[in-house]
Amino acid sequence: MRGQNPVFIPGPTNIPDRLRYAMSVQTIDHRAPDFIELLTPLLEDLKKVFKTRSGQVIAFPSSGTGGWEAAITNTLSPGDKVVVARFGMFSHRWIDLCQRHKLDVEVIECPWGTGAPADLYAERLAADRDHKIKAVLVTHNETATGVRSDIAAVRRAMDASGHPAMLHVDCVSSLASMDFRMDEWGVDLAVSGSQKGFMLATGMAIIGVSRKALAAAQQAQCPRTFFDFRDMAGANARGGFPYTPPLQIMYGLRESLNMLFEEGLDSVFARHRRIAEGVRCAVRAWGLDLCAQSPELYSETVSAIYVPPGFNSDALTNHIFDTYGVSFGVGLGEMAGKAFRIGHLGSLTDVMTLSGLATVEMAMADLGYPVELGSGTRAAQEYYRKTAAANAEDRGVKRAS
Ligand SMILES: *Cc1c(COP(=O)(O)O)cnc(C)c1O
Repeated sequence: MRGQNPVFIPGPTNIPDRLRYAMSVQTIDHRAPDFIELLTPLLEDLKKVFKTRSGQVIAFPSSGTGGWEAAITNTLSPGDKVVVARFGMFSHRWIDLCQRHKLDVEVIECPWGTGAPADLYAERLAADRDHKIKAVLVTHNETATGVRSDIAAVRRAMDASGHPAMLHVDCVSSLASMDFRMDEWGVDLAVSGSQKGFMLATGMAIIGVSRKALAAAQQAQCPRTFFDFRDMAGANARGGFPYTPPLQIMYGLRESLNMLFEEGLDSVFARHRRIAEGVRCAVRAWGLDLCAQSPELYSETVSAIYVPPGFNSDALTNHIFDTYGVSFGVGLGEMAGKAFRIGHLGSLTDVMTLSGLATVEMAMADLGYPVELGSGTRAAQEYYRKTAAANAEDRGVKRAS
């Protein structure tokens, strides 16, 4: 019955039955005239999730990493300077990708557990008087450390220095689970994927593209073919795809958007906040520390939790998997062996989360952690009880008195 347990990895996330059914469709001809009836409203509705009116959405068959590659190759040329902060495995991998595309990458090294340093970005931009910097890169939600960065603050820093650089944001593990405001924050490229907040199978990179970024695609010299915005946007405008689209995932995405809009984006964000806070209550009750160094950095989609000195987090996640058949996120990079991660995004409820917390406790007890069985679960239960009424109201539950 292993397959009955939810996963608590921060992506790919649990796929609700409704979306699995939606993806179970027979082949249809993507060159038939009715493909446009699926594609065009899908791209329009995705704009609501990115909160962009002036930009557009371009999606490729790919995982999120392909979305990064598309973002970089379509807007930049080899030798172009970009500024990017490294504070976790995902920002690290994005830097690596930029370097392999021969960009001139100025890295701001930050301790893991901190977020994007708006003040340091501001310094670099202010010092760049002849505007060599073409783009500022920020990981909105660093999935390795459970840190959410303040994109609005980075935008304010850019505006304060009057710098014309583009702002590229990785929102793979935040979009559709936490608030994201592409237009308001002046984001030029926002990279996401199908298998996290959208609760789907892996297979689509979904990118919000500003007009400025689209214009940059006319000049950018990085080689690209499969990921060329011009081919994709051109074909999309004619109601098609430049090659075979991942049709089943697109049907799933249609239904995912229906689900998100039915719940209401604000309610989706509130649900994630509430679930995450319950997890943090448990972590506090266990006497353990989050990697995220301060409350304003807490991610609502993933918590990275240090194990006590003398314990190995990989042994914990392996034990949970072997003994109880549940997956939790391992520590990545610098965090390997030191921290495990609870992914709490996508298709998840408070009740499901309690099962995960209880399982972590069993495993910690098995391995001799100085943690009392039930302590964290109880703290989460208390928090969920206290906030249950508002939550039910949010779900539109009404009962005759
Ligand atoms: C999951 C993730 C990605 C993309 O990973 P893929 O495995 O290529 O889908 C990129 N950035 C962040 C922050 C992520 O969480």
